[in-house]
Amino acid sequence: MRLVFLGPPGAGKGTQAHVLSEEWGVPHLSTGDLLREERRQGTKLGKQAQDFMDRGELVPDQLIIEMMAERCRKPDCQKGYLLDGFPRTLSQAEALDKMLKQLGHELDAVIDLAVPEPEIIRRLSGRRVCPSCLRIYHQETMPPRVEGTCDDCGAKLVQREDDQPEVIRTRLRAYESQTAPLIAYYQERNLLHTVDGSIGVEHTRRQIQAQFGLSASQ
Ligand code: AMP
Repeated sequence: MRLVFLGPPGAGKGTQAHVLSEEWGVPHLSTGDLLREERRQGTKLGKQAQDFMDRGELVPDQLIIEMMAERCRKPDCQKGYLLDGFPRTLSQAEALDKMLKQLGHELDAVIDLAVPEPEIIRRLSGRRVCPSCLRIYHQETMPPRVEGTCDDCGAKLVQREDDQPEVIRTRLRAYESQTAPLIAYYQERNLLHTVDGSIGVEHTRRQIQAQFGLSASQ
């Protein structure tokens, strides 16, 4: 199972990939999470990426492509993976094609999660994340059992720096100009599946499973 989750920031790529990765037993590879981990560890890549991320701009292609080429070669990716946040530009999509070819792999599908912009802004503003296990919450629609605390690991939830209104606007512009063209790219390759990402986590998950012929676990 090799899927790409496409869609604007806040469309639910991370939430869906997290749930489905547990169900299907394939790793969830989020470029945003990988970059935040690099920053936490203070690596060279983390330092190179940090200003771009804080401004809500895309990190240069070459850095992302090298990071993902290394990650996709790890043994846990043999059975497949769910890509969340990669590719995000046409040159990343071309690099992914090359990488897959070299490894003798093929993409099964690209899932474009469609969500209207006002809903995206509402989601990103209310999003809270667990810095330890990376689980995602929303203050109103998906709150933790105990306010401010992760249900799974008990860590204190935080708001991402780039979920501030000004940065959200920059991220949405980056999506429109650099990532949205990938919809046509994957449509031409007959890989694109558009799924309504505004109908709730559970309904969206069921739609994805229905499209791929996998039975929904209750
Ligand atoms: P995300 O968690 O997917 O919203 O990503 C957070 C930030 O990481 C983005 O706003 C970008 O600065 C950076 N980033 C994540 N994935 C990519 C990518 N594929 N290409 C360039 N920058 C990325």
